[in-house]
Amino acid sequence: MRVAILQQPGEPLALAERPDPEPEADELLLRVDACGICGSDLHVSDAYPLPGLVLGHEFCGTVEAAGPTAGGYEIGDRVAALSLTTCGTCAACLSGRPRKCPSAVMVGIERPGGFAEYVTMPARNVFRLPNTLDAQHGALIEPLAVALHTVDRAALEPGGHVLVVGGGPVGLAVALWARQLGAGEVVVSDPVANRRSLAERVGASATVDPTAEDVGDTFERLTGERPGTVIECVGTPGLIQHATDVAAVDATVVIAGVCMAPDTLLPIVPMTKELDVRFAFYYRARDYDTAISMIDRERIDPLPLVTSEVSLDELPSRFQSLKSPSDDCKVLVRP
Ligand SMILES: [Zn+2]
Ligand SMILES: [Zn+2]
Repeated sequence: MRVAILQQPGEPLALAERPDPEPEADELLLRVDACGICGSDLHVSDAYPLPGLVLGHEFCGTVEAAGPTAGGYEIGDRVAALSLTTCGTCAACLSGRPRKCPSAVMVGIERPGGFAEYVTMPARNVFRLPNTLDAQHGALIEPLAVALHTVDRAALEPGGHVLVVGGGPVGLAVALWARQLGAGEVVVSDPVANRRSLAERVGASATVDPTAEDVGDTFERLTGERPGTVIECVGTPGLIQHATDVAAVDATVVIAGVCMAPDTLLPIVPMTKELDVRFAFYYRARDYDTAISMIDRERIDPLPLVTSEVSLDELPSRFQSLKSPSDDCKVLVRP
């Protein structure tokens, strides 16, 4: 099969031939239908020496073969994969919190991912896709689950106004869910004009350009108050401080942006406001079910998040170009 692999940090992905993977007894062999490029893929490719690794953890595929104990699926079934493999038997797995499984293995980091024609996954770590969902929907289930878990962590009050900091794929999906789950005004802050217009397409009631306007003042002008919920979806140093600065007294601040650099925070700001600052990471298994069923019932339309599709051949150059600021939101690989 053909795959795209990491070379040394910072170098473009390389195309390579690998033997088709063989499913273990409890695994399915999937033909990858679509795999999203995630910001963390870009980060890993620059930061870690993992030559030969096949990235890609946001994928859906069609079952081509099944190991003898990989029950419940037939050849031709279409599934969306968790971005982890898990043991399936520990307390975390049984309560639907796969990230907290002590045996969790990150797909596309610790085992080969979806930038390939084929990939294997344990049958317990995939979710069947109804025919109403196409491959674009299937590849969006993982980021939609991440965003749904983030909004879940915010414990929104019905009608409460929400500020989403960052209009990348996660921020936009957070805006989509917040609107769907009963928020009042949902304001997205992002410096990129195209992301602000995408935000309005997925349900944001207003947007703000943080390079041109004061975010807190603009939010107050739009909604009549400072944000009672702030959801940070960028992950660069300074933004936790920003989120606490703009938040209302007694607000909830959820940090979903993945920041791998040291950051500073002036604690007196969240202290005097008595902010409830929470972090969000990954998802619960039920978030996959919810995302699939909400698309199936036409309650949400996440397709505006997909701004382009590339073949495996086109992936290395596109992947490189996504490391610079662009108008793209979610780019899918169609191997
Ligand atoms: Zn991701
Ligand atoms: Zn487990």
